[in-house]
Amino acid sequence: MSWFSEVELGPPVEVFALIKAFNEDTFEKKVNLSVGAYRTAEGKPWVLPVVRHVERKLADNDSLNKEYLPILGLESFSIAATNLLLGLDSPALISKKAFGIQCLSGTGSLRVGAEFLARVLGKKIFYYSKPTWENHLLIFKNAGFAEGREYRYWNPSTRGLDFDGLIEDLKNAPKDSVVILHACAHNPTGTDPTPEQWDQISDVIKERTLFPFFDCAYQGFASGNLEKDAFAVRRFASLGFEFFCAQSFAKNFGLYNERVGNLTVVINNPELIPATKSQFTLIVRGMYSNPPSHGARIVESVLSNPELLSQWEDHIKTMSSRIIDMRKQLREALEQLDTPGDWSHLTKHIGMFSYTGLNEIQSEHMVKKHHVYLLRSGRISMAGLNPSNVYYVAKAIHETVS
Ligand code: PLP
Repeated sequence: MSWFSEVELGPPVEVFALIKAFNEDTFEKKVNLSVGAYRTAEGKPWVLPVVRHVERKLADNDSLNKEYLPILGLESFSIAATNLLLGLDSPALISKKAFGIQCLSGTGSLRVGAEFLARVLGKKIFYYSKPTWENHLLIFKNAGFAEGREYRYWNPSTRGLDFDGLIEDLKNAPKDSVVILHACAHNPTGTDPTPEQWDQISDVIKERTLFPFFDCAYQGFASGNLEKDAFAVRRFASLGFEFFCAQSFAKNFGLYNERVGNLTVVINNPELIPATKSQFTLIVRGMYSNPPSHGARIVESVLSNPELLSQWEDHIKTMSSRIIDMRKQLREALEQLDTPGDWSHLTKHIGMFSYTGLNEIQSEHMVKKHHVYLLRSGRISMAGLNPSNVYYVAKAIHETVS
């Protein structure tokens, strides 16, 4: 007899299964386009020089110790992160309507926010874009939401946004539902609404009294410009919305495994903040008690020092422009090969990912025949491309779709 004999085998998490398969693959020209992590032009992970610099300083700083952080994290970090997101001239900041909570990267920030919404505010239904980052479902369900519903987002025929479908679905959402919105660089499609479309989305959210929950995993990383990538969030703040925004510093700081993130909370009445914080405190206390300090200290050190900040801004420009360049190179290579189809969407998309338009069978063929690893949905991470493999990938796509 075992307590575990009835435990069912769960499905593998696709992206981690692909990373494992890629690592075990001995084919010389293999290419990993599955994982959402930056790679240099040589195909290597990149520890940002400003991060290394700060880590050395932290290691030598004898006044730092390994005591617990407060339950809601390092306050100087969460203030700096909230300022970065909203902008120092934000009306929400000036009128003290916003605060941050240091959480375990983007995922942990989403989870803590979702758990507050489900347990404390009694929210039951959440809406997510079709498609979305697949972890949204698991996070919100595990946090206590009763039901997740899709809103239309991707139009396969234009390989762009299905804006009418999006608006129609949000218009039909029951009042009080929570809507997950990708702040920028939508994962997996690489397609964002325009500023005018964001305004129309905000109108529907207001009309239907929905609660916006932004997921901001790519600020600065998408366009190379911190302000531009925060446009939607800042717009909602200036329109007077109450909302949550989960920030990740995994991509823009290259701090994937440090699990450093921030949940920004905007509340219309600052007098309600102490009670709200007390409930967040209980959620975090019962979940992981308090967050780790290392990543938060790094991010805080950079954001609070103008010289380091400007170095970091240079780094995010380096990363985003390399990705934009790879988009161009892949498109050019496919057009040169006369690959069937229109590949202009590759350069229209923004951020780390694109939906190539390859279907499930084609994507699996890419993996099996060409050792080019991508998700079944046809999503590729542009960061996995580099000048040495882009032509190989283009030829693989060409053979697959021809
Ligand atoms: N949200 C989106 C849309 C993402 O793409 C990711 C990472 O891939 C995350 C959140 C959270 O990542 P992390 O928990 O590593 O910060």
